[in-house]
Amino acid sequence: MPASASRHLFILTGASRGMGQAMAQQLLAPGHTLLTLSRQPDPALQAAASASSADLHSWQADLADAGPVATRLADWLRGQDAATFASATLINNAGVIPAIQPLRDADGDDLAHALRVGLEAPMRLTAAFLDATRDWPGVRRVLNISSGLGRRPMASQASYCAAKAGMDHFTRCLALDEAQAPNGARVCSLAPGVIDTDMQAQLRGADAADFPDRGNFERLKSGGQLTSPDEAALRVLAYLARPDFGREPVADVRDA
Ligand code: NAP
Repeated sequence: MPASASRHLFILTGASRGMGQAMAQQLLAPGHTLLTLSRQPDPALQAAASASSADLHSWQADLADAGPVATRLADWLRGQDAATFASATLINNAGVIPAIQPLRDADGDDLAHALRVGLEAPMRLTAAFLDATRDWPGVRRVLNISSGLGRRPMASQASYCAAKAGMDHFTRCLALDEAQAPNGARVCSLAPGVIDTDMQAQLRGADAADFPDRGNFERLKSGGQLTSPDEAALRVLAYLARPDFGREPVADVRDA
């Protein structure tokens, strides 16, 4: 790696709310270049970047239509000076829970939207990232933010569970691909634990008649068992920084 390679590049989706917003704040650091991809701009992040002279690039992007976003990402990466980066990391964090109801009652567009944002977009962005950086000399990593629900089923959550199970399994395949490649990327699909965000509020707010697990989510909140977004972001980024990141293509931050 060139001696000048001292910067670290992070590309983060879903940085406008929840754990993604907390990760973005924590990634604004000297020596880091951060590119965020969100539907909504985050004025607080912009202000923090200006105050610290951090290198922040924020794109407004709807990951329900990830094709143009992936093309733009690949073009942008090809325009970077790869030799200045000691590492480049893609974090696929954005996700959505569609209407919480049995699949027989689901609206087709709603379930397609959840799969586009939760599975198609991470695959397209990962493909664009790996293609555009394939000759980069530094460490390359892909961190997919998965869920325990990718590994265990839950009623009225078929689309979300399917997106996360698909994310886990494409990451396993990716690990095999990258093991064959020169300077292949290190990849992991990581469950981040249960976090006190809008997503949990959505689960607690579901119609109990449709959602047998609603009481469990209410108890997680009332029992103080939810991790704060800041703490969850710290744990996830600590996992990403581990020297053995990528040894397990599917992992859970709670087992770390
Ligand atoms: P959240 O608070 O609901 O935030 C989701 C993020 O995804 C937001 O920044 C949102 O941005 C973005 N997003 C949604 N749809 C998008 C789209 N079409 N285009 C671009 N961005 C979009 O969620 P969270 O709880 O922080 O979850 C973060 C990740 O952790 C998700 O992948 C989630 O599945 C996973 N996870 C969460 C929990 C939990 O307990 N919260 C547990 C396990 C796994 P907008 O402002 O544009 O909507």
